[in-house]
Amino acid sequence: SKPVVAIVGRPNVGKSTLFNVLAGEMISIVKDTPGVTRDRIYADVSWLDRDFTLIDTGGIEPDSSDIILSQMREQAQIAIDTADVIIFITDVRQGLVDADSKVADMLRRAKKPVILAVNKVDNFDKFMPDVYEFYNLGIGDPNPVSASSRLGIGDLLDAVVAYF
Ligand code: GDP
Ligand code: MG
Repeated sequence: SKPVVAIVGRPNVGKSTLFNVLAGEMISIVKDTPGVTRDRIYADVSWLDRDFTLIDTGGIEPDSSDIILSQMREQAQIAIDTADVIIFITDVRQGLVDADSKVADMLRRAKKPVILAVNKVDNFDKFMPDVYEFYNLGIGDPNPVSASSRLGIGDLLDAVVAYF
């Protein structure tokens, strides 16, 4: 069967926007309200003759005891357990926050290949200096992307399919 790729990260970093770009359709709901993706959402994606199943997740808020947020965290953990490769998204505009480090810890425990995507790099000249701090997650090279402007998407997909 096809490899499974899961998109994880905190709410509002752009997981569903990236999912829709990679799926080539508006499938997942993009909202300014964090946590609007309540269920896992699947799409078949092809890149360079490689086929895989992509999963969007509602997001991980590591410390929250809120029932919805803890259910989202549980769903994300199921997606992580199911995945062959994980795309971990962060947000360059917010910078590296403690919750990102906690998600990184979750991913390290999963012992699966992780591609780190730093999203909202809508202007590479302006935001690249802020991308480097994400090396501090200790989870590999940060891949700058802009899901909404569709920048860095090809390089990101190359990095994903290299693991198949
Ligand atoms: P999710 O909660 O991680 O699924 O995030 P969404 O995909 O729903 O996006 C959250 C917000 O970030 C929305 O307002 C998006 O339009 C915005 N967003 C997503 N990608 C980008 C991007 O590349 N650049 C900018 N500036 N905003 C983005
Ligand atoms: Mg979403």
